[in-house]
Amino acid sequence: MARKTVSRRCWVSVDATTSLNDIDAGSTPGFSGEEASAREQTEVLRTELVELQARLYAESRQRLLVVLQAMDTGGKDGVIRKVFSGVNPLGVKVARFERPTEGEMARDYLWRVHPHVPANGEITIFNRSHYEDVLVVRVNSLVPRARWKLRYEHIRSFERLLADEGTRIIKIFLHIDRDEQARRLQARLDDPSRQWKFDPHDLEQRKHWSAYMTAFRDAIAETDRKRAPWHVIPANHKWYRDWAVMNILVRTLRDMNPRFPPPAFDPAQFGVIA
Ligand code: AMP
Ligand code: MG
Repeated sequence: MARKTVSRRCWVSVDATTSLNDIDAGSTPGFSGEEASAREQTEVLRTELVELQARLYAESRQRLLVVLQAMDTGGKDGVIRKVFSGVNPLGVKVARFERPTEGEMARDYLWRVHPHVPANGEITIFNRSHYEDVLVVRVNSLVPRARWKLRYEHIRSFERLLADEGTRIIKIFLHIDRDEQARRLQARLDDPSRQWKFDPHDLEQRKHWSAYMTAFRDAIAETDRKRAPWHVIPANHKWYRDWAVMNILVRTLRDMNPRFPPPAFDPAQFGVIA
């Protein structure tokens, strides 16, 4: 298959000194053309994504975890629907992390997460993740500061464990700005076919925007590791967001280089099956 060049830098680097408010959520790093050409490129890469995922599944030796985080309306569901459309559902799973149940809250916060990590041959997408335990939990003081402070270290260790044991990890933060969130919330409210997605709780959280930006920045800066890297993607433009995520996925899977396993027999020995 002819390979299209994938973008090397379609995300923004963030460290402890970055203010997420200073990152232009409408920018398109790594891409300078028209929307239509981004969409075209995304479709070309989709063919390759489908091929690479088929190989990963058949090979059944490697696993990929994609952690997706964003503010409410940031586009997590859209990315899952659009970027992964066309892949074989046998080998792709989505784990969604909502408000913990009583049983989950009665245990440590990683307890509910670990069972969902990908098995050999699988891609698992975390739609929200263990990061909520240093985001919504921190911003709303659901546990004392002294407790969530320790969690960055737990998360680094947890992800290192996964990586050491053979799980490839990529973490993606879809970055929208506050005005874009207002537009998207309004659109949900105004459209009867999307009202089901409107959650009044999101309006409460919206009031804490700047606290969330700090919590996200800290979560990213504290846990950005070579073997579990963060990718901050400006996500006001959905077409750019999808293009960027597609680039990152294809690049990662190319690097994993999954192969169809050779047969454990000589196919010729069976001749033509009657
Ligand atoms: P959604 O993903 O829009 O369906 O919403 C899920 C909700 O669950 C969001 O409001 C999250 O902030 C919330 N949530 C996810 N994980 C946690 C957690 N560990 N503690 C508290 N709330 C959480
Ligand atoms: Mg929601």
